Amino acid sequence: MVKSCSVFGCTHRANSAAKEKGVRFFKFPKRSHNSWIKAMNRRDLVPNGNSFVCSVHFVSGWQSYEAWDADYAPSVFSYKENAIDEKLQERAFRRDLSKENQQLREKNERLWKELKMMKRGVNKIKDNDKATIFHSGLPTFALPPT
Ligand SMILES: [Zn+2]
Repeated sequence: MVKSCSVFGCTHRANSAAKEKGVRFFKFPKRSHNSWIKAMNRRDLVPNGNSFVCSVHFVSGWQSYEAWDADYAPSVFSYKENAIDEKLQERAFRRDLSKENQQLREKNERLWKELKMMKRGVNKIKDNDKATIFHSGLPTFALPPT
């Protein structure tokens, strides 16, 4: 049976590719296997002699039997990094959306002001043929009869 890593999302198997990359496989420790299961968030897992965790999940690349050591349990999980990346991306996306939203609000406000000014201008000349001729070159503001 080929050794494979029990970490969620990890596809490492003890084959020539893993050997080339220097990936090692560690058996679950008898004494502290619960801390590994907890760290891996794999409460469904009941480790046996064929259960392994690969070396990429340990900071130093080696397991430690010392409880004070960071590598007492696996702690490097790519799925967590991906989750963090996704969160950061979503945050950046929301920030961009919020910025765009603010810009659109400002543009909308500017356009409303412009429209108000234009309406005011129209109101000034619509009943005044002299002003209409002066500002538009047209003889009258009224539409020609159809
Ligand atoms: Zn692995």
